[in-house]
Order: sequence, then structure tokens, then C-alpha cells
Amino acid sequence: MRVILMGPPGSGKGTQATSIADDLGVDAVSSGELFRDHQRRDTELGRLARSYMDQGVYVPDGVTIKMVMEWINDPVHSAGFVLDGFPRTHAQAEALDAEIKSLGGVDRVVFIKVSEDELIRRLTGRLICRNCQTPYHLLFSPPATKGMCDKCEGELYQRDDDKADVVTTRIQIYNQETEPVVDYYRRSSILREVDGEQAVEDVGKAMNAAISG
Ligand code: AMP
Repeated sequence: MRVILMGPPGSGKGTQATSIADDLGVDAVSSGELFRDHQRRDTELGRLARSYMDQGVYVPDGVTIKMVMEWINDPVHSAGFVLDGFPRTHAQAEALDAEIKSLGGVDRVVFIKVSEDELIRRLTGRLICRNCQTPYHLLFSPPATKGMCDKCEGELYQRDDDKADVVTTRIQIYNQETEPVVDYYRRSSILREVDGEQAVEDVGKAMNAAISG
């Protein structure tokens, strides 16, 4: 099963990706998380990606496509995948289609719809565990102890690109670059849309129904 989760930054793709992948018996991958992992390991790719990510703009297609294709082509991921945050441009969608055409292509694209006001509220209050990457929110899902992860006691931090000025740029770029990719999948009739402003569990149920239906 090969599934793509699409939606603007802050729509909840990352929150849903792992449980959906578990249900399908495949692995989830977030292109943003692959970049952040390179940054933590201070690789050349990580340093390159940081210069784009800190400004809220996309990392160039060439390096992004290469990195995600390596993940997809790793034999441990041969059962399929849930992609979170990729593809975000036409070139990425075309590269993905070409790469997995012989396997039958993408089975389902789930688009999570959330209004712009809600996205800004969510992103500017988001905190992430430095250790296990669990997301929290200052207002909607605060940790039991301020600044500390409930699961692993890791330190919580705000991503540089979740600061208010960068969030606005990220949403603008999403509208320019990624909305057309959503339309591309909508035309091919494999896209299903879910309301991302429901409770987290209800979004998950709607997504499961969208994938199996
Ligand atoms: P995310 O964690 O999905 O919000 O991604 C964080 C940042 O990583 C984005 O704002 C981009 O700078 C970069 N990024 C992640 N995925 C992609 C992609 N598919 N194409 C280009 N840049 C990406």
C-alpha cells in the first residue's frame, strides 16, 4: 500500500502518519524529519537544508527527490509507505510517479483541509520533543510538566520555522507550489479530502475510511 498525506503545514499530517502506517503494516516517512535528522547529525545535506528551512522555503527538488527515493528504494520499505510532506512540487510528484510506476503507482492521496487562521494558531504554539519528536501544543495539548516530554522526559523546543514570521512564508509557499500538486492528484481521482479541524481521533477515523474507501 502506497499512501501520500497532503495538506498545508500544521494540518496534522505528522500526527496521523505513524498510526495510519501502523494500521497498514508499512512505515511512515516525513521528508521534513529526514532533513532534521541530517541537521542533528550535521551532515552536508543537513547544513544545506537548514539554510532553506530556517527561511520557510522549500529545499531544492534535486536533493529532496534523491533523499526520499533512497528511503523508498531501501528494501526494508518494500511493503509500501505513508509519505508525509512529499511530494510538494510538480517535479517531485513526477519523480515519484516515475519511480513507482512499475509497482502500480500511488494507491491513495489523503488531503487534510484546515483553514489558514487555524494553521497559524497551531504552528505558532507547537512544541516538539528534542529526543523522540513527539509534538505538543502550548494550548491544545500541553505537556504535564512545562518544557518536558511526557513520554521520555526530553526537552521540548519550538522549531525555528514555527516562529510567526516564517509560518506566514511557509503557508504562502504551500499555496503557490503545493496546491497545484493537490489538484493534480484530485484530477487522477485517487485523492480523498478529510476535514482536519475535527478532534484528532475523528481526523484519524476519517483518514482510515478515506484510505479503505
Ligand atoms: P515539515 O516538517 O514537513 O513541515 O518540513 C519542514 C521544512 O523542510 C519545509 O518548510 C521545507 O523547508 C523542508 N521540506 C520538507 N519536505 C520538503 C519537500 N518535499 N520539498 C522541499 N522542501 C521540503
